[in-house]
Amino acid sequence: MQSQVETAKNLIGGKWQQSTSGQVFYDVSPADTSKTLGAFQLSDNSDVRAAFESARTSFPKWSGTSPIERGKLLFKVAEILAGEIDKFSRLLTTEEGKTIQESKGEVQRSVDLIRFYAGQAARLKGDTYPSSTPRTLLYSAREAVGVISILTPWNFPIAIPTWKMAPALACGNTIVFKPASKTPLIAYEFVRLLQSAGIPDGVVNFVTGSGEKVGDEMVTNENIDAISFTGSYEVGARIQKLRGGASKMIRIQLEMGGKNPTVVDEHADLAKAVQLVTSSAFGLTGQACTATSRVIVHEKIAAEFKTKLTERVSKLKVGNGLEDGVDMGPAASEAELKKDLKYIEIGKSEGAKLLLGGDRPSGDYYERGYYINPTIFSDVASDMSIARQEIFGPVLSMLEVRSLDEAIEVANDTEFGLTSAIVTNNLEAALEFAQRSKVGIVKVNRTTPGVELQVPFGGVKHSSSDIFKEQGEEAIEFYTKKKAVYLSY
Ligand code: NAP
Repeated sequence: MQSQVETAKNLIGGKWQQSTSGQVFYDVSPADTSKTLGAFQLSDNSDVRAAFESARTSFPKWSGTSPIERGKLLFKVAEILAGEIDKFSRLLTTEEGKTIQESKGEVQRSVDLIRFYAGQAARLKGDTYPSSTPRTLLYSAREAVGVISILTPWNFPIAIPTWKMAPALACGNTIVFKPASKTPLIAYEFVRLLQSAGIPDGVVNFVTGSGEKVGDEMVTNENIDAISFTGSYEVGARIQKLRGGASKMIRIQLEMGGKNPTVVDEHADLAKAVQLVTSSAFGLTGQACTATSRVIVHEKIAAEFKTKLTERVSKLKVGNGLEDGVDMGPAASEAELKKDLKYIEIGKSEGAKLLLGGDRPSGDYYERGYYINPTIFSDVASDMSIARQEIFGPVLSMLEVRSLDEAIEVANDTEFGLTSAIVTNNLEAALEFAQRSKVGIVKVNRTTPGVELQVPFGGVKHSSSDIFKEQGEEAIEFYTKKKAVYLSY
């Protein structure tokens, strides 16, 4: 089977090349592990070095291209992708496991992001200032930062590369992109699409391979001017440490994990709360950095909420995301499945009460992939591992509180700070929560996942390096630098 699959190559300087290691790794579908989707280059540091040299060589010409021209090219990329939403969505579901509706949403988001930044290219403006010297024009101008190292996770394997690459390209930067090893195929297809749209040789360079093996080169290569990383806190912290010791000061953007709470207040509409928590915790198989993994419920409504939530979640259909009627796809990989099951055992051993799930669905159909049942624990205390560590799967912890103050305290009792939500019909509770929640994104009567592309995105605490936000116009701040020009005559 493996010998029949296509072997994808690295793209360096506009040429598709084999890795110097001569080795490949294979990509399998989490919904059916008998399906091998492709072979990918297991790159060496020498491949990464060549990719950065190519990005450096291509930088002067690309950054010197009119932003209007760069914008036009990006509009073309968006049009091609818009015409291939079905193909990319099927590929995404097959490779990552999310349902086809979720995939369509993600690919459409990529199209929208590319259009947004294509438009931003014509708005790369500076400011003019009054000068204390007569006959002086004083202004600021934006310039591209240079060569960008882009490292992305597997859970949004087209949207996240897009929200980094589209603004980077619009601003005139060149790129070395290493996708997650669990989802290299959709990344490869996206890079092929960029090439077919006419992005010039060497502007986007693509290398696949193990982060453990080439990660250090991806963050310490001397040609790097900026790093944009999304992934786990552990890897993010390692990058921060490595760059702390580097001689060249560069800008770094690290977006990392979450342990996001949804508070269900005593004034909540319970039907709405059940619907929002079900979607936030089990949508995308719980594999979103913004997923709700803790639900913090007021004791007055806890019993009723618990019953209704369990009833609702027990009806979710687990299966292959390509099939009609499936609500929740598999875990994205064997490692993720094992991690979910490990945390379920930890939850039980720490004294939490298993309300639902906690195991894998049975039968031949489910044996084929990395399927797991949606799982809910009640009686969870804030100091238990399942309430503190990022599980990154469909495992929800329910904690009970006696007041809004306690709910806010528990919600903030985490090292992470990405998103949070409250479900309430009480304006005061909503405003109080929005003000005191220590996160980058806070919501009222909405799901914790789901953000709009024109708004700054990012977390605080261990969820983010929190210097530069992503998306919206904030991305332009990261991918450009400002020069002050004094012109006297
Ligand atoms: P990960 O293991 O940290 O990997 C992320 C990327 O970094 C992958 O491309 C990975 O390559 C690479 N990498 C691995 N080790 C590296 C090293 N030593 N140096 C440099 N790069 C290295 O994260 P993941 O499992 O793919 O993704 C899940 C995590 O991402 C979760 O924690 C989730 O919360 C977070 N996430 C955050 C956001 C956000 O915006 N805040 C969004 C989505 C996901 P390999 O795949 O080859 O290991």
